[in-house]
Amino acid sequence: HIASESAPKIPRWVRVNTLKCSLTSLLTQFPDYAKVDTLEDVMTAAKGIKTKAGGRVYYVDPYVKDLLAFPPGIDITTMPCYIKGEVILQDRSSCLPAALLDPPKEAWVVDATSAPGNKTTHAAAILHGAGGSRKGGVIAYEKDPRRAEILKRMVTRAGGDVAITVRPGEDFLKARPKSDELSRVTHLLLDPSCSGSGIVSRAEYSLLPIPEFETKTGTKRKRGGKPAAKPAVTAPAKPAVIADDAEGADGEQEETKQDVAEARLHSLAAFQTEMIQHAMTFPSARKITYSTCSIHAIENEQVVMAALQTKVAKRRGWRVLGREEGVLSEWERRGLDEECAGDHHVAQACIRANPIEDGGIGFFLCGFVREGEDDSKEE
Ligand code: SAM
Repeated sequence: HIASESAPKIPRWVRVNTLKCSLTSLLTQFPDYAKVDTLEDVMTAAKGIKTKAGGRVYYVDPYVKDLLAFPPGIDITTMPCYIKGEVILQDRSSCLPAALLDPPKEAWVVDATSAPGNKTTHAAAILHGAGGSRKGGVIAYEKDPRRAEILKRMVTRAGGDVAITVRPGEDFLKARPKSDELSRVTHLLLDPSCSGSGIVSRAEYSLLPIPEFETKTGTKRKRGGKPAAKPAVTAPAKPAVIADDAEGADGEQEETKQDVAEARLHSLAAFQTEMIQHAMTFPSARKITYSTCSIHAIENEQVVMAALQTKVAKRRGWRVLGREEGVLSEWERRGLDEECAGDHHVAQACIRANPIEDGGIGFFLCGFVREGEDDSKEE
């Protein structure tokens, strides 16, 4: 299965779909593969460098249960385990949200933004998979009807029909948290639309273009540009319109493009904050995960900070899930202090993955929790 030539820089991540198969039984389909101790060993094998196992190796991820990494050249899609839906090809970063949400076996979970369904099926596997119960389930919202069709297919393929109720074409922001169905929901997974600036193009193994105005450590105030504003919560910023006089010097045009890109990020951030705010109103909710595949602080730490400042967060006692409280405390790359107004606790609660360097796409994740009483009867 291994193609060693022109090996790309990220491994092939394979999540064992415990709705259909266990890790032990999956590994029987890889009889001549040897387990290695580090991701570097997987990538060494990918470069065709001779190892004892001759390139046929796998690595068991220490952060996410039932997740394996293989050398990138492996063609899993022709293997029975893929054809039968026993594995899901899912980047490690994309597996972190359901792992951090870590719903107890009988929980009711909402996936607010589900298609194509990677995290939905992962959450269902945690609930109904090996050792799980059949009592709870996942309610999967997907606003875009076309994408909802893809979601339905993925749910069926993963054997998730009994565990997952799909809400095709439904807007999570219009969901009524106090309805009979939703008032029992304790866990919410939010993975809303984002700029996708952390996505690594698997075909080219390169990064998609990233707006220039942001540096690794924050937002550059370019050429007298406005400082990054806090995302507006209720009134998303309108994307900037390119002015008629933008056809002047190249520099001016460049600046205008950057303004448009920045305005888009702020508009996304306003939407993302609104999604968290809505999730925070669910009467029995105890835990929320918020994630993006963006590397921009505007959509990440700044959204977390804005969400913590909302009235609903303060009234209902929502706070970040501290680094030491979550199952991913060992994950090293955390949020940026300077984007959290120097609040080290909040920054440490945030999880970042850098594209390629951390073995996959660029990603951001933060959990919110509250301990308060069930206030479902509250007005
Ligand atoms: N979590 C998915 C996965 O891992 O497979 C990817 C989700 S994708 C980043 C965001 C999805 O949210 C899109 O399919 C989009 O159509 C959907 N979406 C955006 N706004 C929504 C809303 N208000 N309610 C429900 N779905 C929404």
